[in-house]
Amino acid sequence: MGAAESGVGAAILGKLKGYDVFVSDKAPIAPAYKQMLEQHHIAFEEGTHTESIILTANEVVKSPGIPEKAPIIAQIRAANIPIVSEIEFGSRYTSAKIIAITGTNGKTTTTSLTYHVLEQAGLKVALAGNIGYSLALHIATQPSPDYYVVEVSSFQLDDTPTFCPHIAVLTNITPDHLDRYNYSFEQYVAAKFKITAHQSAQNYFIYGADDAIIRAYLLEHNATIAAHKLPFAINNTLSGSHAILEKGNMIIKSNIGEKAIIPLSALPIKGKHNTYNALCACAVAHLLGVSASQIEQGLSTFQAIEHRLEPVAVINNISFINDSKATNIDSTWYALDAMTEPTVWIAGGTDKGNDYSTLLDLVTQKVKAIVCMCVDDSKIKAAYQHLRIPIVYAPSAKQAVQAAYGLAHPNDVVLLSPACASFDLFKNYEDRGRQFKQAVLELM
Ligand code: ADP
Repeated sequence: MGAAESGVGAAILGKLKGYDVFVSDKAPIAPAYKQMLEQHHIAFEEGTHTESIILTANEVVKSPGIPEKAPIIAQIRAANIPIVSEIEFGSRYTSAKIIAITGTNGKTTTTSLTYHVLEQAGLKVALAGNIGYSLALHIATQPSPDYYVVEVSSFQLDDTPTFCPHIAVLTNITPDHLDRYNYSFEQYVAAKFKITAHQSAQNYFIYGADDAIIRAYLLEHNATIAAHKLPFAINNTLSGSHAILEKGNMIIKSNIGEKAIIPLSALPIKGKHNTYNALCACAVAHLLGVSASQIEQGLSTFQAIEHRLEPVAVINNISFINDSKATNIDSTWYALDAMTEPTVWIAGGTDKGNDYSTLLDLVTQKVKAIVCMCVDDSKIKAAYQHLRIPIVYAPSAKQAVQAAYGLAHPNDVVLLSPACASFDLFKNYEDRGRQFKQAVLELM
């Protein structure tokens, strides 16, 4: 069900493994994916779901984009046909060890950083999952690596009855995507913890111990987690296996080898959130036998990822930063926290039920003006107008950049970190980030 990256990958792997495969998508299928299905002689339909075919399946692989409440999913469940996600299906057909990374924020950065450190250390490793490359497709078409580093969203964890990564990483949990979980935060938290549900004592579970939600869940469910636990923290002291920051060094201690000491200064990407992401990457690399000096070397050559606190240009001594991927309050919290100069903040978009008061302290300390780049600016205005800083409205990237440039002085920063989804004015966060960068370059 679903014919994009994960669905087509699962179909090709299924075909290769001798299954009779049928692909169904309610929407039109993108030409590149249609071509892949045709090349592999896989039957498919688009624009409809033919129940008489679908309900004869032995098993359904569901794309993460299809919500549980879609009528066809209810029919499949009612017919008692097992539904699995693509990572569950794919992981049946590989003996490579899987490092699976989930969390509300930081998945892509942590996954990329971990992959980079392992790859630079000479391990045979491949990148897959939510980051844009189907795990199943890689398994079907590429030589097997020794390790897969897989970014996993909560939706991809939804139908994983046996998925067992060798190392599971849970970065953090804050409210997001609640529309897909019956507006129940508990259900969303439980979905994230599925990453460790099938692990055994030979596996590892790395988790953010500064995160109050994760700590609260563990207080209640600690006994149900069989994996060897390796918490990471900046603000808390930890015993047992752990990854912490101490006097400018990341220190990783585990049941494997000597403790590793890696200077944080090796990491080129800044901000407290990236320290957390690096602690995860270092812990994974350490558990896989990479030496501290190799880890340090790998960190030092990592480059910022597009749309995540990405430096765009410096014009008239004003720095422009693109953090378009900040689609929720927590990610913007870390972006503002990382700012060291007076900031003109470009915010707004499709609001997912944001509570802007959690940013109030940081906005008071760091923000000199706000540019609302959205259709509806009423919530942002209401949240901050008492601060008596300029709050201006700009319904396009170009207008937003021009307004921000007008409000900024030399040595200030213009930060796009919207805390909202992008769909009111843009196709997606990438489109928003690119239009922002284009508008900045036009200033030059
Ligand atoms: P994800 O893949 O989970 O969406 P990304 O690495 O793409 O995470 O980052 C998304 C946004 O969150 C970016 O704005 C980034 O700067 C911010 N971010 C990255 N890591 C973290 C973290 N550990 N905690 C909070 N925010 C983060």
